[in-house]
Amino acid sequence: MYLKEIQAYGFKSFADKTNFEFTKDINGIVGPNGSGKSNVVDAVRWVLGEGSNKQIRVADTTSVIFSGSKSRKPLNSAMVSITFDNEDKHLPVPYSEVTIKRVLYRSGENEYFLNGEKCRLKDITEMLTDSGMAKESFNIIGQGKIDEILSTRPYDRRSIFEEAAGVLKYKKRKEEAIRKLERTNNNINRVNDIIKELETNLEPLKEQSDKAKEYTLYNDKLTNYDISLMIYDVDNYSNSLNICRDKINILNDKIAEFNSNTASSDVAILNSKDKLNKLNEEINKDSTLVLEYTKKMEQQDADIRLLRERKKFVKSDDQSDKINDIKEKSLDKNNLLNKLNSELELIDKKIEISEDDIINNTSKYNEIKNNISKLEAKINDNNREITKLKFELNYLEDDINNGSGLPNSIKSLLNNPLFSGVHDVIGKLIDTKEEYALAVSTALGGASNYLVIDEASMASKMIEYLKNNHLGRATMYPLDVIKPRYVDDENLAKIKKEHGFIDTLDKVVTYDMKYQNVILNQLGNVILTENINVANKISKLINNRYKIVTLDGQVVNVGGSITGGDKIKTHDIISKRYELDDINKQISKLKNINEDYLSDIESNKKTLLVYEEKINSAKSNKLELNNDKELKLNNKNLLIDEINNLVKELKDLETISNNDSDTRESELLTSYYKIKDDIDRLESEINEKRVLANKLTDEINEMEELAKNSLREEQKLEKELHDNELKVSRLEVKIDMILNSLNEDYTITYKEARSKYKLDMEPEKVRKEVSELKDKIRDIGVVNLGATEEYERVSGRYEFLTKQKEDLEKAEDTLLEIIHDMDDIMKDKFVTTFNEIRAEFKKVFRELFHGGTADIYMDNPDDILETGICLEATPPGKNLKSVAALSGGEKTFTAISLLFAILNVRPVPFCLFDEVEAALDEQNVEGFGEYLEKYRGKTQFIIITHKKRTMEYVDTLYGVTMQESGVSKRVSVKLGELKNK
Ligand code: ATP
Ligand code: MG
Repeated sequence: MYLKEIQAYGFKSFADKTNFEFTKDINGIVGPNGSGKSNVVDAVRWVLGEGSNKQIRVADTTSVIFSGSKSRKPLNSAMVSITFDNEDKHLPVPYSEVTIKRVLYRSGENEYFLNGEKCRLKDITEMLTDSGMAKESFNIIGQGKIDEILSTRPYDRRSIFEEAAGVLKYKKRKEEAIRKLERTNNNINRVNDIIKELETNLEPLKEQSDKAKEYTLYNDKLTNYDISLMIYDVDNYSNSLNICRDKINILNDKIAEFNSNTASSDVAILNSKDKLNKLNEEINKDSTLVLEYTKKMEQQDADIRLLRERKKFVKSDDQSDKINDIKEKSLDKNNLLNKLNSELELIDKKIEISEDDIINNTSKYNEIKNNISKLEAKINDNNREITKLKFELNYLEDDINNGSGLPNSIKSLLNNPLFSGVHDVIGKLIDTKEEYALAVSTALGGASNYLVIDEASMASKMIEYLKNNHLGRATMYPLDVIKPRYVDDENLAKIKKEHGFIDTLDKVVTYDMKYQNVILNQLGNVILTENINVANKISKLINNRYKIVTLDGQVVNVGGSITGGDKIKTHDIISKRYELDDINKQISKLKNINEDYLSDIESNKKTLLVYEEKINSAKSNKLELNNDKELKLNNKNLLIDEINNLVKELKDLETISNNDSDTRESELLTSYYKIKDDIDRLESEINEKRVLANKLTDEINEMEELAKNSLREEQKLEKELHDNELKVSRLEVKIDMILNSLNEDYTITYKEARSKYKLDMEPEKVRKEVSELKDKIRDIGVVNLGATEEYERVSGRYEFLTKQKEDLEKAEDTLLEIIHDMDDIMKDKFVTTFNEIRAEFKKVFRELFHGGTADIYMDNPDDILETGICLEATPPGKNLKSVAALSGGEKTFTAISLLFAILNVRPVPFCLFDEVEAALDEQNVEGFGEYLEKYRGKTQFIIITHKKRTMEYVDTLYGVTMQESGVSKRVSVKLGELKNK
């Protein structure tokens, strides 16, 4: 391999494109001072990547570009290219010719090309490493630099030996490995730092994650149990409800049956009583008849006796006067009787009227009585409804007064002796008309449960308390910091006249003035409208700046989004209070109705009294009339008796005077016995009827006893009915409450919950489990639910980094091993090469100096990798050891000896020497020239020189001139001419 050609254009003094072609043996370059010879050396160094400005003899990088001369303008770029013959493949590339080119622009931009292909400087340096042409190599020696090899520090000299030993590539590898090692170390440290930090986080995170997992487990279980228990209870209650309702139906049927039975048994009793009455009447009638007959019989007996007496004393003549007298008397008496009879008829008529009166008034009386019982039944119904409503009322009141509906956190703060200046939740501080309630509670939303307190300082204490006792969260509204909010006047004026605009919400509620700021804060900037159409219109008018609610609870939010839908049954305090009011109203309405019914009953009772009086007076009238009738009947009977006596006396007297008295006596006797027979018959009849009547009485008693029993039974049923109705209303309330809780606490519908949750244990066990779970959750305290995910993320990262750390440590070991290997190789090669050069140096020195001694040694042989190289040289006949004491020429010649010694050990493809032999005398130049000859065929030489003796050894010779001032030119020099001189 050898340097075939150098081309320069724009580099230093080579303003024109200049090229030098060389042969593979010894080439010479000559020319006057300042003509640009050394620039050729610079060009070669530069194109091989030299970065040191000093080496190239410039002040800064771009100074290598031709800077112009008197007649030439400066150029904009510098270019040098060199071409190697690489037939022997000395350079490790598959080309038989290798051209390296470097271009530099004024901008400072560098370009490198390898065989015309753009490449990096690194590609070039790598290719040249250990080729004997690297920067560290000894093959290019600049002007005046030959002595430096003796004067530099031993350590700096090392690099020449290293290059010669070919360890640079190992050194580079080692450096690379060290760099990598450093990086790896840094990475290990970094990873270690992160791992340490993760470790400190990992433990608490694991605890938190375990806690969160435990909490989630318990909470899921709790939810499951709680909901399934609710479903179980609802089902149970519904079952009981159905059973109760069925029972109510059955009881109602039974009671109806009882009623109809009672009615028919009543009818039967009445019928029997009627019969009994008739019988008793008949018995009475018959008895009266018997009495009458007995009287008649006695009369007959007396008549017979009187007739017998009269027969004894009355004469059969002069009776006519007496008879006439009797006839007259009889007539008088009959007249009296007629009068009495007509009087009696009148009385009978009057009695009839009284009786009609009694009947009519009694039926009216009964009608009113009926009315009263109907009203009483209605009152009873209402009272039942009132009981049911009161039951609901109690629940609600409890809810509101004890705050059962409030979150636990709020409850624990209200009436807590630890805190002063606690007022109440906002919802309880506001009153409004029912028509605005829905709008107000919609606008308040969750804020209805915000707690109003005096001072903000108390809030932090409260929060601390809630945290320490795991009581959940609460929002506090301190009166001393809460600021009012308004709808600004300009916007208000804009919408005030809109039809359907009502007001801002704070205007439709009432409250204690001390809460004004809080109320205004919540409601002062909320607008109330009649309906959603108006709300939308107004929202547009004010650019959606304020929240608007409608009477039916729809909301147009700030920004214009709309929340709404069906009327929602809210369960906040305000609506509960209205529910409460509603129930109270229902109760008082029912009570009022009952009052009305009662007063109806009262007035009915009054009318009843009137009728009672009428009936009584009719009855007493009838009684009086009857008494009068009795009296008159007595009189009548007396009169009839008198008439009869007169008739009998008349008859007796007439029969006696007609002597017919015996016939009459027998007639009377016959009549007497006939009456006696009649009496006997009647008495036997009476006895029969009495037996019948007794039987009937027994039957009636029995029936009445039965009726009493059944009434008792019915009352029992009525009580049972009432109990069941009460039970139904209680169950309904319970079911309602559970359904509410499902909806509010778990936001799940009954249907959904029922299909998802089933009780798989005894309910009592589950209840116990629920309370235990609640205790457990309380014990767990504050949980961070994100901890599980965070822990998994962090522990995953931890594992990943630990693995990475292991990998890095392995890599570190590998790198250390590489470094070690490199060291071993370098030491070995360095020592071997050193020894070889040393032997050669000793030899070459003696040859060049024709005697004397020289040596090199390591100043620190224990550390081969770091040791410097020292030189000793004693020219023949001298007794010096230190090279510093050598003359200039001796120094140069010693250095050349070392140069050749190295070349002997490790040949390089070419050498470029810039006047290295300048300081030598003729004899030594001769020695130098002769020595060069030895390398023919092994190493190419390009020698810049002024020495004619040197020129004698060259094969080709170029001249460099500066004909045009400031620009170097290559000229050919004929060798023959020179050699002849
Ligand atoms: P000597 O025999 O004294 O060592 P030489 O032939 O080696 O001389 P060089 O050092 O190669 O001379 O050339 C130096 C010349 O190059 C100077 O005259 C300088 O003006 C010129 N030169 C250096 N850099 C530039 C540049 N960027 N543009 C133009 N000319 C330059
Ligand atoms: Mg020079």
